[in-house]
Amino acid sequence: MDSGSANKHNLKVVIRIRPMLPREVQEGYEATRLSVTNKKETNKQKKTFKFDKVFGTETTQNDVFEGARISQLVSRVTDGYHATIFAYGQTGSGKTFTMEGYDYKNKNDGRSKSKAPVIKDNDNIGITQRAVRELFQQVKHKKEKTGTHISVFVSYLQIYSERVYDLLNLNNLNPKKNTKGLRIRWNKKDQFLVENLFIFECKTEEEVMELFHFGLKNKIVASHNLNSQSSRSHAIFTITCESVDPGNGENIVTSKLQLVDLAGSERISLTGTKGLAAKESIDINKSLFVLRKVIMSLSDSKKSSKDKSHIPYRDSKLTSLLKQSIGGNSYCLMIACIAPSDRFLEENISTLNYATRAS
Ligand code: ADP
Ligand code: MG
Repeated sequence: MDSGSANKHNLKVVIRIRPMLPREVQEGYEATRLSVTNKKETNKQKKTFKFDKVFGTETTQNDVFEGARISQLVSRVTDGYHATIFAYGQTGSGKTFTMEGYDYKNKNDGRSKSKAPVIKDNDNIGITQRAVRELFQQVKHKKEKTGTHISVFVSYLQIYSERVYDLLNLNNLNPKKNTKGLRIRWNKKDQFLVENLFIFECKTEEEVMELFHFGLKNKIVASHNLNSQSSRSHAIFTITCESVDPGNGENIVTSKLQLVDLAGSERISLTGTKGLAAKESIDINKSLFVLRKVIMSLSDSKKSSKDKSHIPYRDSKLTSLLKQSIGGNSYCLMIACIAPSDRFLEENISTLNYATRAS
């Protein structure tokens, strides 16, 4: 893999290869041979992909945060631009570990089930927590330096089978009360709006984290109620900043940081997948397919300054909701996750192909 600079537009694509898990080693799987180079590869027998950066198996959570320059992305948001970070890859490749950190599903920390899991392990906290911490530092700094006041708002939703559910609203996750999910409406400015989505104002990092943990817990509730698996839904944690110009209180700039843990990218066969209706399978594959089409159209239109009106945002709920923060002047980081075990070779090549086309 070539980790040289891949593209000139606002989308960066990085790869993260997780280490082999003890279970995989025990079961006798071998690690796929992946080599990372900064040089142009000429060996025709090797398959070469090119990305902005490649994080190998030894990479820590902090290395990813620093190496992918996420503080810079956060500062775009506090400067008034939109940004999106999304994790792509098959189930088990490390998307949730990268975005959320701590594997709350598999660890029993003795807490009552009614309490939100609290991620305490400081080294293993994910990008979301680190970005929130960074954001509040920048907000404070900005206030001191320029007098700009930034209000912070948070929402957390999940898309499952083309339906939108509010992870911060337990009523919304009750299948008896809400079978169709929340509606998306387009406003006059051609922006999306999720009707009745809970949005909370947060004054501190701790308040944001409390909501994040509440949403994480509700992801489990949701997968139970909707009879789904979290690996088949997309989770979008949105932090909205409203900056008020100190010279002119009426001048308010709104910007968003969206942190997305995408559904597993493995091909789900249309028949024979236990408990999954064909329609759900099509919906899950469709949103990732449309996401790629959107990203490719964006990068094409940047290259050739073609008409942008054909970008197919509206073809899936996911891309509708990401429209604002992946198009235009927004900044976007895609972290494509790789599970190194040879049993996933085919899926890994498919992930690398997806990520290459995106870049
Ligand atoms: P995904 O969300 O893509 O399905 P997970 O994030 O749940 O995958 O990761 C699958 C398993 O691998 C989990 O047990 C997780 O703790 C572990 N894992 C993932 N990435 C790493 C990493 N970089 N270092 C150590 N363990 C990891
Ligand atoms: Mg996951």
